[in-house]
Amino acid sequence: MWSKFFLAKYVRQKHISIVDPLKGSKFWKMLLHNLPEVQKYSKWNVRDGKLSFWHDKWFSAGPLSNAHEVRELSGLSLTDCQTENGWKVEVFDQLVRAETTEKIIAELGRVKQGKDILIWLPKAHGNFSTKSAWECIRLRSPNLPWAKWLWNPALPRKMSIIMWKAQHNCLPVDDRVRRTGIPLTSKCDCCREGSYEDQNHVLATGEFAEQIWRMCASKLELPCLQGKTWREKVES
Ligand SMILES: [Zn+2]
Repeated sequence: MWSKFFLAKYVRQKHISIVDPLKGSKFWKMLLHNLPEVQKYSKWNVRDGKLSFWHDKWFSAGPLSNAHEVRELSGLSLTDCQTENGWKVEVFDQLVRAETTEKIIAELGRVKQGKDILIWLPKAHGNFSTKSAWECIRLRSPNLPWAKWLWNPALPRKMSIIMWKAQHNCLPVDDRVRRTGIPLTSKCDCCREGSYEDQNHVLATGEFAEQIWRMCASKLELPCLQGKTWREKVES
């Protein structure tokens, strides 16, 4: 229902890859913006050929419209290029370079029965999953030296996430909020006389945090950690 709605509202008779990317809701524009990325990782396995000759990605090198100027027959489908026994080579020759025709014929093979199948390339079985898509687009950073402590299964997940945020300096403390351009008067909740609340104060140098670190240091027989930053304390 969802895809039918968007196709009817924004795509209609056109091909989705030539729809004006500046028109439509914010969500729709975001979706169109990501379409090339989706195309990069997917490909049509041609059966009955109800696919755009120019704009669908059924050829390994990408949609033909990327490499060739669409001068004629812009609405041509692959079904239109089929005969009972094979492919209309003369049509391919008319529209693309001869060497491309050869590659197309080699890839298409013989005409097959059934519905065209869209394949998700990163997976051998060809099925799409959001997990696999995320693996394709995510930026991998090297593991933190203390990652095994931070993501330790003994810790509540909420605490792991808080520490992960701290590592990336994005805990929502007053100082961080001010840096995003929101003016506010800062006062921490961890000391009897409120101090300026930044990440280091909350996690290391505030009264409450110092008290906790003192207890930990004596239990773990660490040297005195007083006055050190939260990062120095964690690393020690
Ligand atoms: Zn405080």
